[in-house]
Amino acid sequence: MFGRHKLRGRTDEQLMLMRAAGLLVARTLDVLHAEIRAGVTTLELDRVAEEFIRSHGGIPNFQLVPGYAHTLCTSVNEEVVHGIPGQRVLREGDLLSVDCGAEVDGWNGDAAFSVVVGGTEAARPEDLDLIAATEASLWAGMAAMRAGGRLYAVGDAVEASIDAAAARDGRRYGIVEEYVGHGIGPKMHLDPQIPNYAVRDTGPKLVDGFTAAIEPMVTLGSADTHVLADEWTVVTSDGSRACHFEHSVAVRGEGLWVLTALDGGEAMLEAAGAAYAPLPG
Ligand code: MG
Ligand code: MG
Repeated sequence: MFGRHKLRGRTDEQLMLMRAAGLLVARTLDVLHAEIRAGVTTLELDRVAEEFIRSHGGIPNFQLVPGYAHTLCTSVNEEVVHGIPGQRVLREGDLLSVDCGAEVDGWNGDAAFSVVVGGTEAARPEDLDLIAATEASLWAGMAAMRAGGRLYAVGDAVEASIDAAAARDGRRYGIVEEYVGHGIGPKMHLDPQIPNYAVRDTGPKLVDGFTAAIEPMVTLGSADTHVLADEWTVVTSDGSRACHFEHSVAVRGEGLWVLTALDGGEAMLEAAGAAYAPLPG
């Protein structure tokens, strides 16, 4: 965590394989989006995701994490991350975070989004603000990545984005610190860890071809969390609701390629201040 770790870039061929894995994650999340409604259980969503990933040549890589048997993490309301799919029935107004990963041909994608069950009309205004703030902070964090730049610029940018949103929205947001982004490639979780908050160090130098999962987790209150007795589910200690967005992204010499976005990030990157730089083909 002190910047001595030297980052390695992926070859173009490896990035193409990671795009295939990332696209499968993006399509799975797209399918899930349409399935989320009141009355559905989180386990039903998990089955939809597993079926979709396996029928498209992928492996649900969360099942490769020791002790974890599901395809998704589904975290509801005060649950931050690592919620286990089960018999919980989603209700109108629930704030649901869905985290999904897939491995294809030995390469991995990892992404997450949050949404209110029942849509905008069913949502509390503060939940809509939290979702917008968290998603914007993800794009701000990614946009801070450039070849030759420094890795921990991500945390500076996420924190600045959340601070600006808090001031604009007149709300208190907490950035969770116990869980962070990570490198990704032949395995879903690789070094280095990537904080979502400003740290004193600048971190290692970013290189062309570096791939990472950036994943801010933000709450409507305190950032303190604890793990439930199931040994997985992370909840806010003050019971406030939490939100999680994640993308896997490749740093390229010319800009960024968001491997788990359906459009590669084309629509969002420029607005966030970064160039869209996919590989051709
Ligand atoms: Mg994830
Ligand atoms: Mg991740």
